Amino acid sequence: MEAQSIPEVTEVHEPVPPVVTPGAGMAPPSDAIVLFDGSSLNHWQGRNGSAAQWRVDNGAMTVEPGTGDIQTREGFGDVQLHIEWRTPEVIKGEGQGRGNSGVFFMGRYEIQVLDSYENHTYPNGMAASVYKQTIPLVNASRKPGEWQTYDIIFMAPRFNEQGRVTHPARVTVIHNGVLVQNNVEIWGDTQYIGLPTYTKHDDRLPLRLQDHGDLVSFRNIWLREL
Ligand code: MG
Repeated sequence: MEAQSIPEVTEVHEPVPPVVTPGAGMAPPSDAIVLFDGSSLNHWQGRNGSAAQWRVDNGAMTVEPGTGDIQTREGFGDVQLHIEWRTPEVIKGEGQGRGNSGVFFMGRYEIQVLDSYENHTYPNGMAASVYKQTIPLVNASRKPGEWQTYDIIFMAPRFNEQGRVTHPARVTVIHNGVLVQNNVEIWGDTQYIGLPTYTKHDDRLPLRLQDHGDLVSFRNIWLREL
C-alpha cells in the first residue's frame, strides 16, 4: 500500500487543545478573565491610579460624567474581548454627542461606542468603527436603551528594537453577532485631530473605557488572553 493511501499518515496528534468549558449564552468561558461581573469595579481604576468613580447598579456600570475614563488595573496584549454596552434610551444630542464612549485596547486603540441607530455622523466615527480609521462593514446597531454586544479579537502591534512597528495591530469586531471589522489593520494610536502614528509601547497595557460625558452603561466584560 502506498503511503498516500493510508489515512493515518495525515492524522496529527499533537498538540491536544486544552479543554475550555464554554459559558451558557453570553456567560464567560472557563478560561476567561472576568473584568466586570456586575458587582464591583475591583478590576478598574482611574487613569492616574485613583479609584474608579463610575456608578455600579443593576448589574451594570455607567459612566459618571466628568470623573474620567477608567482602565483595568492589569495590562493585556492579544485578547478576545466580550463587552456589552447600552446607550441612553432617552436620546440627547446628535452625531458624536449621542451615547459616545469607547473601548481603548492598550489604552490607545479605540473601537468606538456610539448610539448609531438612525444617527448620522462621519462613518469612521460611528459605532464599531476603528475611530477615525476604518468604517464598519455594516451598521448593526440596536436601538438606544437596548443592550448591545461587541466580541472583539485584538492583536497587539509588534515593534523592533529601534521602536519601528514590524506588525501593526489588527482587529476583528463582531457587533451584535454581525461581523463589522474583518481582521483590519490599525494604523496607529487613535487621534482626534491628525493622522494616527505608532509609538513603541509595552507588550501589555490596560484596557480603557471612555468618559465622553454621556450616560453609557457596560456589563458582562470578560476577555481571554491569546
Ligand atoms: Mg468615543
